[in-house]
Amino acid sequence: MSAQLETSQQLSDLLKQHRKATDEQGVVDVATRKRRLQTAIDVLVDHQQALCAAMDADFGGRHQGFSLMNDILGSLGSLKHARDNLEQWLGSEQRQVFSPYDQMGSQAWVQYKPKGTVGIIGTWNAPIFTLFSPLASALSAGNRAVLKPSEVAPETARVLAKAIAECFDPMDVAVITGGVEMGQAFAGMPFDHLVFTGSTEVGKKIMRAAADNLVPVTLELGGKSPVIISETADIAEAARRLAIAKGMNGGQLCISPDLIYLPVAARDEFLQAFCATYSALYPTIENNPDFTAVINDQHLARVVGYVAQAQEEGAEVIYCPDVPMPTTGRKRPLSIVINPALLADIMQEEIFGPALVLLTYSDIKHVVQEINSGGRPLALYYFGQDEAEQNYVLDHTLSGGVTLNDALMHAAMEDAPFGGVGASGMGHYHGRDGFLQFSHARTVFRGAPVDPRGEWGMLPPFSEHFTAAMASQVTR
Ligand code: NAD
Repeated sequence: MSAQLETSQQLSDLLKQHRKATDEQGVVDVATRKRRLQTAIDVLVDHQQALCAAMDADFGGRHQGFSLMNDILGSLGSLKHARDNLEQWLGSEQRQVFSPYDQMGSQAWVQYKPKGTVGIIGTWNAPIFTLFSPLASALSAGNRAVLKPSEVAPETARVLAKAIAECFDPMDVAVITGGVEMGQAFAGMPFDHLVFTGSTEVGKKIMRAAADNLVPVTLELGGKSPVIISETADIAEAARRLAIAKGMNGGQLCISPDLIYLPVAARDEFLQAFCATYSALYPTIENNPDFTAVINDQHLARVVGYVAQAQEEGAEVIYCPDVPMPTTGRKRPLSIVINPALLADIMQEEIFGPALVLLTYSDIKHVVQEINSGGRPLALYYFGQDEAEQNYVLDHTLSGGVTLNDALMHAAMEDAPFGGVGASGMGHYHGRDGFLQFSHARTVFRGAPVDPRGEWGMLPPFSEHFTAAMASQVTR
């Protein structure tokens, strides 16, 4: 069988073969894990140009340098970190045996076992990263994997499927392409673990489908990542860093700043500095190769619709850079929507494109309350120099991750978990935390050579002495 699958029947057959091989194989040694990780690295290194060209074609304009940084190097970072560190993660861990069995010679340890085969469903916005970064964790834990790229980036899916079929044994890693129907069939397969990256709404469907086979899920979802700018922040520097972050991938990142909460008095300084940076990065938009286009007409209409609705309802909108609105292609200046109505779509839905909401505030506690009234965000950002206030924000909010005095950065940490909580998902990957996510932690207890429970009067028929001995141990 090729590593490139075309039908759900082929996928089902492959999973049966995987299961048989997993049961027969026993230990998945370090060399096997490293070989699989190295093959994934080789796929990306050898096909980097074709993959970047495919992403450029799918977006209708995405710079090769950005695709190299975001998707190729982002994935290589996870794969190499796993390859170079997995030996420290694998070993069984001795655990403390309870009394009195510890003194009788019993032993216990935890084994980190591969679960089997991990299914990975990716998105279009980071079409390589959302497959290969979880793949690094899945392979480090000794699993096999099947990837399902997004049909919204079809050229990338095609090039990737071909590259994987050329380089991988399907018993290690395979790919299946297809649309929503294939995604539905995929989510209903008896994987040993399923990773889904995508929207919160589809995430719920995935979890329902996985439940039929009791397949554990890691859900890497989205949401409205808020930014809190303190009165104590360096406003111009915060604006500069946020403009850089918001411009990345045309705002189509899961952790892209979505809502910015700003002290009323800082509004003009912030807008001036933000637009100055954004316009310096992207002085033109329509034909600017550095700027990533919106992926398709449907998503463009969605983002433009959010802005138009907010504007009709009275919100102020500033465009950045201040250039004529393009009439062709799918690159648009950033729309900064200031203080829209709370129920406007742009306040309810993840923006995921070239628009941003600015909300002015006078009491940071109200900001925290407002954030807590919505779903738990994937990322939260705080800019400020007041440690007590920073701790207040950290203590009173819950999000997948946090970056302080910058944006996006926590997600690039290979040596720390990346994932959401509540509406933004469950589970995580990266580094040892990802290794643990895709391993089964199995406790093994080895009985003592002698068993004195009978001599100690601990077995039926129970005596009064036994009951009194048990009762004496019920302590606070
Ligand atoms: P999406 O939910 O529309 O699709 C994601 C994947 O699910 C695609 O491969 C698609 O084919 C498949 N799919 C769609 N409907 C399905 C169904 N009913 N059953 C099974 N599979 C189905 O998401 P998208 O538009 O590709 O990506 C954007 C979303 O992903 C945003 O919300 C963004 O925040 C989120 N995202 C999250 C992360 C993260 O790491 N947490 C990373 C990137 C993107």
